[in-house]
Amino acid sequence: MLIVLKKTATKKQADHILAEIKKLKLKPVVSKGVEKTVIGVIGDEAKLRTKPLEVFAGVERVIDVQTPFKMVSREDHRQTSEIKLGKNLTIGGKEIVVMAGPCTVENKKRLLSLAHSVKESGATVLRGGAFKPRTSPYDFQGLGETGLKYLKAAKKETGLLVVTEMMDVRDLPLFEKYADIIQIGARNMQNYNLLKEVGKSKKPVLLKRGMANTIKDFLMAAEYIYSQGNHSVILCERGIRTFETSTRFSLDIGSVPVLKSETHLPVVIDPSHPAGKRKYVAALAKAGIAAGADGIIVEVHDNPEEAVCDGPQALLPDMFETLMTDLRKIAQAIGRSL
Ligand code: PEP
Ligand code: MN
Repeated sequence: MLIVLKKTATKKQADHILAEIKKLKLKPVVSKGVEKTVIGVIGDEAKLRTKPLEVFAGVERVIDVQTPFKMVSREDHRQTSEIKLGKNLTIGGKEIVVMAGPCTVENKKRLLSLAHSVKESGATVLRGGAFKPRTSPYDFQGLGETGLKYLKAAKKETGLLVVTEMMDVRDLPLFEKYADIIQIGARNMQNYNLLKEVGKSKKPVLLKRGMANTIKDFLMAAEYIYSQGNHSVILCERGIRTFETSTRFSLDIGSVPVLKSETHLPVVIDPSHPAGKRKYVAALAKAGIAAGADGIIVEVHDNPEEAVCDGPQALLPDMFETLMTDLRKIAQAIGRSL
């Protein structure tokens, strides 16, 4: 941390700041310039969090030089974390992981048929929400535990792992029982109690970026989970709100290289929610993998006309099949496998 003093700061004001720093058993280092004085602080800067140095007389500004997300930062952890998802699947290594399925679990028959279909095309994880965060309270809210049971049945039949969204801390025991990966949705990215709770679980967590959150907010949310002891955190870029209205959200493709450089956690792209329309989905998915993402999570439905949720953006099974073929070529071109 650097504390820049005002040009007008008096010796008394500077001495008071130095005394406060020493009181916290930190070491101040004073650099006197021609115009201004800067005090560097050495030691565990977290101790200074309780001291609002900005309000001290004589202080012009305070500059944080360390990343606030310490555990998920790549600074001291150069290798990308390889996270074990199931017995035979990891994410963050050479292999690209494809998670696919409907937005929401609608009924058992449709889920099983979709699960077989996405598996045949090469997906290794089945997606599907049983608890849905809907904008309107009058829209379908999900099948709840019944939906989780159908997902488990689909896993049993196909061998696909299951990723599904959890919205309420009270449901953790259900997710421990039925899910392989717990999804925290965009709307709950800053639900800190929820983050702390899944941080105590051993299940891998797929954390989606909030639609109005910066990459720093996103990494701080990941830090919440990680610092509770759960190191199996996967980040998911799913588009942010901008002034653009021709797509549902703006996929921040730039976040992929930024996240890859800032954190050791694996990154996946959700091309479905930013696209909003199925005709845009494949391009976004391909861009995500080309940009360095470790996987995708994509919505697929065999009868979008009847889809209860997000039908317009669901890929038809044959479109998903084509996308997989294209992704394999991209994976090969960038030295990854799929
Ligand atoms: C979803 O995956 O269906 C979903 C609701 O996503 P998000 O939280 O990104 O809106
Ligand atoms: Mn959806």
